[in-house]
Amino acid sequence: PFEVLVVGGGPAGAAAAIYAARKGIRTGVVAERFGGQVLDTLAIENFISVPHTEGPKLSAGLEQHVKAYDVEVMDLQKAARLIPAAEPGGLIEVQLESGASLKSRSVILATGARWRNMNVPGEAEYKNRGVAYCPHCDGPLFKGKRVAVIGGGNSGVEAAIDLAGIVAHVTLIEFDSQLRADAVLQRMLASLPNVRIVTSALTTEVRGDGQKVTGLVYKDRNTDAVHEVELEGVFVQIGLVPNTEWLKEAVALTPRGEIEVDFRGATSVPGVFAGGDATTTPYKQIVIAMGEGSKAALSAFDYLIRQPGP
Ligand code: FAD
Repeated sequence: PFEVLVVGGGPAGAAAAIYAARKGIRTGVVAERFGGQVLDTLAIENFISVPHTEGPKLSAGLEQHVKAYDVEVMDLQKAARLIPAAEPGGLIEVQLESGASLKSRSVILATGARWRNMNVPGEAEYKNRGVAYCPHCDGPLFKGKRVAVIGGGNSGVEAAIDLAGIVAHVTLIEFDSQLRADAVLQRMLASLPNVRIVTSALTTEVRGDGQKVTGLVYKDRNTDAVHEVELEGVFVQIGLVPNTEWLKEAVALTPRGEIEVDFRGATSVPGVFAGGDATTTPYKQIVIAMGEGSKAALSAFDYLIRQPGP
């Protein structure tokens, strides 16, 4: 069995694996797709001490760093079920979709999250070419330009307020007849001169010139009239979904599916820790995921040295 089994090969999982392996304990990583969301990212300009890098380069770096240690990496393997130890300090089981089963004295969950897509024409085609999901990451790339934010919940309205300070103009598009964000955020948004709020609007298409985004089409749900907004960027803020469906029966999750962790990264199950975008930790960012993954590994080590020996 492993002493530490990490599920997930993004920034959080890679950091957890490195921290665990450096303790000289038997460490494994199972990942559906090593690199995680970083693989889908183009420019990264907030990875502290590296002013500019690119997703594929950073994820190659993650893999290289993990493989510099004695870590068993099981890539292209999806975890399907977690079974807590039968007795305190016992072995935890992780079953894979392939049918294989792995056992470990501790487990670190780092399965990340995925942005909910609009699934309209042009969205996938112009991803990273005007269609963006993370205002903290990509906002500055649209300095002085016109953007739309899709979604009037807290994350959409926060994104619109954030972006209004950077870009020339923001159009906020909400499907419902009213915004759903907290009143204080709505008041702040309404006070900004370069923001237009459109409610009861269904986004139907992202338009582009073959290279980059040039506009957004929406339908007014009250009149069925179709409108086009000329712009350079579209931020989709209709939800970040944690990859935790497989954990529902085993670990305490919030109603949104985030793994509940305490300040040490401990979950509701003894010996099971978690870090990164899959958890309740706020602000889903690479440096934060790395910090949280490292912390989860140190907590797992702390847990292991307190267990009676075999
Ligand atoms: P992830 O990166 O999501 O990795 C999760 C890992 O778990 C993957 O290896 C996945 O395959 C695996 N996995 C999932 N389910 C299972 C399963 N059941 N079994 C086995 N493995 C599983 N952040 C920044 O700081 N700066 C940026 O510029 C930036 N730009 C971004 C641009 C885009 C387009 C996107 C999508 C995100 C961006 N982010 C950025 C956010 C950043 O990528 C995430 O915060 C970070 O990757 C989270 O790391 P993680 O390890 O928690 O999860």
